[in-house]
Amino acid sequence: MSDQELVWEQRWNPLRGEWILFCSHRGGRPWIGETHGAEEERPPSYDPTCALCPGNERLSGIHNDDYSGTYWFTNDLPCFGGLEVEPSDDPLYQTKPAFGTAEVVCYHPDHSKTFAELSDDEAADVVLLWRERYRELSAREDIDHVLIFENRGELVGTSNPHPHCQIYAGNMIYGHTLKHIEQSRDWHHRTGGYLGLEILNRECEGGRVICQNDHFIACVPWFAQYAYEVYLFPRRAVSSLADLSEKECRHLGELQRDVCIRLDNLWQQPMPYIMTVHQAPTDGQDYAYFPFHIVYHPPLRTPDTKKYLAGPEVGGGSMTNESHPDLKAAELRNVPATHYRQEQGHGK
Ligand SMILES: [Zn+2]
Repeated sequence: MSDQELVWEQRWNPLRGEWILFCSHRGGRPWIGETHGAEEERPPSYDPTCALCPGNERLSGIHNDDYSGTYWFTNDLPCFGGLEVEPSDDPLYQTKPAFGTAEVVCYHPDHSKTFAELSDDEAADVVLLWRERYRELSAREDIDHVLIFENRGELVGTSNPHPHCQIYAGNMIYGHTLKHIEQSRDWHHRTGGYLGLEILNRECEGGRVICQNDHFIACVPWFAQYAYEVYLFPRRAVSSLADLSEKECRHLGELQRDVCIRLDNLWQQPMPYIMTVHQAPTDGQDYAYFPFHIVYHPPLRTPDTKKYLAGPEVGGGSMTNESHPDLKAAELRNVPATHYRQEQGHGK
């Protein structure tokens, strides 16, 4: 099989209910624009100017605790707040308040670490803290949805390398989640099935699993939008982090770490990505059919070429994938499971 074989085919993304255009023969087209991929300088373990390092002062003047494990705090400039806005009665230009909060979660006190370099216990602690925050935030009246995400690397706009993610929690249910609800509900009504497990079974049968453990699998799915897009699915029906046992949280953290190692090992350089935890809203409705999953969207197509979202994606609203998911899954499956920095002896 070669990259030439998946040409001019549309594939249905069953989670979002939208078509993706595949044309892998265009993946190697000439490129004369900006390139990326130089090995990033490894940052120091502590940076006195970093707003996330232990003990440092933040924008608000508040000092971080001198923390030794995971650590979270309320974002100094949250995108949701408690301001009461008068709802508009304009049928066209509608408004409503943006209630809620935003939080920052530091994975580790060491400024130079990445998720790929966490120990089993440290990776588990991150997921356990996410579960705790999801449970606490979901109990709030003013919060309908908890979005956990990590932007990693300058290529996706993160200037601070300190290992961390963010939580946006407000009275807005994000767009992709609305699509997941619609698609999983529709599938359940039509077939009685649970969409997450249906996809998991297809990915296992299709040979696109890159790594797995007792409770989760990671794959480059048949309907991937980016060349190295990785999805993690639980092996049972789960709608949010709150449904996971402590052992499942642990296994999830370990598998996420494995995925991060593989992405970094692919070209032996830190892989930029956007990671999102997709889970059921917290507005009191029944979302038992909601397919909990985690997605990594790396923007690079090759070590030095970024997948730009342009006319078809931003203008037209549909994704184009210039690669073949089967081949990309095999690439990630076949890289070593030990991080290259550790192999080279200048890791932990
Ligand atoms: Zn730091």
